[in-house]
Amino acid sequence: MAAFGGIEAGGTKFVCALGSGPDDLREEERFPTTTPEETIGRCIAYFENRRRREPIAAIGISSFGPVDPNPESPTWGYITTTPKPGWGQTPFAGRIAEALGVPVGFDTDVNGAALGENRWGAAQGLDSFIYLTIGTGIGGGGLLGGKLMHGLVHPEMGHVRLPRDTRRDPFEGVCPYHGDCLEGLASGPAMEKRWGTRAEALPDAHPAWDLEAHYLAVALTGFICTLSPQRIILGGGVMERRSIFPKIREYVLQLLNGYVQSPAILERIGEFIVPPGLGNTSGVLGAIALAQDAARNAAGRG
Ligand code: ZN
Repeated sequence: MAAFGGIEAGGTKFVCALGSGPDDLREEERFPTTTPEETIGRCIAYFENRRRREPIAAIGISSFGPVDPNPESPTWGYITTTPKPGWGQTPFAGRIAEALGVPVGFDTDVNGAALGENRWGAAQGLDSFIYLTIGTGIGGGGLLGGKLMHGLVHPEMGHVRLPRDTRRDPFEGVCPYHGDCLEGLASGPAMEKRWGTRAEALPDAHPAWDLEAHYLAVALTGFICTLSPQRIILGGGVMERRSIFPKIREYVLQLLNGYVQSPAILERIGEFIVPPGLGNTSGVLGAIALAQDAARNAAGRG
């Protein structure tokens, strides 16, 4: 049986792996994100080496973005308008497909992670849910009606604007495009800049966490009202602080104020807003899930 390859392409590091699911995830290799030339080159070398020993059926890429995920578009598989230096308008999936000659699945990092969580993690059996990562940046994706969320391009849930009290929090935000959008106010770098300490070093009792829970809850309330997800999964480095989950749930209940009449929220919010079931492997497993889908689609066409 051929293996599937996954590339979790992040703004600071890449993870390549082979496997077919959480019980079969191997040969993981991590390297820092440098130039596109060097970093994509290392991915190609990784898979070329591995496939001398076993065939690789397809490769999935879940990538930082923004990206072009539309297979009909001439720039499918590109990283497009990213502010990350050197990476704007980078053909990514096409280069991998050309170099390795296998089907390639490509999507945003968060849609990839959402697919992994749907197949093996905290969103099994659900057809509409969202996955948000809160780390170096903030991104959101997921499934709606059983399909990965796409549309005009793909969702940019990290860049919604929030109502906020600038007397309580005069911080101007860190988003290079918007200043005080959700990512600008609540990403890891925003916490670090506002408080002068890295998020992971801020103690549980620090007011940073209450403000963080508040901003996330305001955003989640908006997503609940617009998308009606069956569950919300919160991953990423900032969410490794598990003590923030109860605060977020409490604020979401307060903000919704009983309006969304579902027992999933009113009675079981502890199972409604949850950490990833796959821990920090949802990204790379999501990429492997994208590879499995790409192989299936290619077989369907062929
Ligand atoms: Zn923004």
